Order: sequence, then C-alpha cells, then structure tokens
Amino acid sequence: MSRMELNKRQDEILEIVKAEGPITGEQIAERLSLTRATIRPDLAILTMAGFLDARPRVGYFYSGKKKEQQLTENMMNMKVRDFQSIPVVVQESLSVYDAITQMFLEDVGTLIVVDDQSRLAGILSRKDLLRTAIGTTELEKIPVHMIMTRMPNISYCRKNETLVQAAKLLIDRQIDALPVVEEADGGLTVIGRLTKTNLTKAFLSLAENHDF
Ligand code: ADP
Repeated sequence: MSRMELNKRQDEILEIVKAEGPITGEQIAERLSLTRATIRPDLAILTMAGFLDARPRVGYFYSGKKKEQQLTENMMNMKVRDFQSIPVVVQESLSVYDAITQMFLEDVGTLIVVDDQSRLAGILSRKDLLRTAIGTTELEKIPVHMIMTRMPNISYCRKNETLVQAAKLLIDRQIDALPVVEEADGGLTVIGRLTKTNLTKAFLSLAENHDF
C-alpha cells in the first residue's frame, strides 16, 4: 500500500486551504476558476482522508496533524473483542498424538486445554508437541496434561482489553497466543483466542483505514 496519491487539483486545493482556511467550498472553487460541483468529489476525498476538516457555515480548514492523532486514537481503541479468533480447545485427557492431529486439522499453532468443567487448564504450543514427539515413541499413550503449560502459569486476556495491552503480554512473555477468558464459577472459561496473526491483521486494518 503506498501513501495516498493526491491529484494535481487536490494538491492545489490543499495549498489554498493551508494558506487561507477556513475557507468555503465556493471560495475554493472561485480561486481555481471551477464550479463548486466540479471540486465537490475532491473536497470529499480530502475530508475523508483526514487532510481537511469541514465545519458547517465556517468552511474548510487544514488538519494535517489530526491524521496522526486520529491514528493514535484508533490504535488505542482497538479491542481484543474486535480481532479475537474462535478458540480451539482440547480436553486434558487427549493424547499427544491426537493433539498433533488436531493442530493440523484446525490449522492453528496453539491449542488451549480445558478440564472436564470446560475451565482453562493449560496450553500447548507447537514446540511442546515437537519436544515430546522427538523424545517419545508412544504418543497415543501420553495425555496432554502431562506436557502442557498449566494454570496458574498461563497468560490470558479479556475481551475488553486493548490490543496494545495484549500485544505487550505476548512480547513480554515470548509467546504466540493468549486465551481470551471470562470469570466463571471455579475458574475461567475460554471465549476466544488472540494470536500474533490477529495482531498482524489489526495492524493491516489500521493501515488500510488510514490509506498510507
Ligand atoms: P512455540 O513453543 O511453538 O515457539 P510459543 O512461543 O507460543 O510457541 O510457546 C512457548 C512456550 O510457552 C510453550 O511451552 C507454551 O506451552 C507456553 N505458552 C504458550 N502460550 C502461553 C500462554 N498464553 N501462557 C503461558 N504459557 C504459554
């Protein structure tokens, strides 16, 4: 994605507003010897892209800085709930062999382990499974609860937290995924999964919305 390209007329409009704003659409058109109708789409684009601000009965004014403020604001408003994925959970009693199969079937890098009450119990990464696979032959006989990282050592997040908070946790703990949890009787229920892929998608959506 390249930075938004303005056409010659849009550049001219921007210069006029920088120099003379606040200025009405009518006056801008006059400076360019064009009609208001002709420049209407350009004004709309410049306003939507955040270059210009429009106030009724006042006119257009330049808002170059606002774009960055808006970007920061949008970034801090991004919440886990808007980007989380469906959790892929397995039971504690599942064998390592079946967990590996499950990881391929579901096309995920992290499996979340729950107990028989469906409460968060553990987490399995690719390397947890690989480590067991190179050291053991009877993978069907080992239940995942023997090898998983278990509670209370699990990092998790909640749906109303910001993506920035979740990203910080992923980086600080050097992990790829966080279960998204809710309080429940006797533990935490898993309602989602937040991964580095979700964060990459969020990053991209920020760039797309701002048309870099
Ligand atoms: P990989 O091991 O494939 O590089 P991770 O970096 O996510 O993947 O996992 C590293 C270790 O941290 C693994 O032993 C895994 O069980 C554990 N782990 C993964 N996610 C979490 C989490 N949310 N909370 C605590 N430990 C985790």
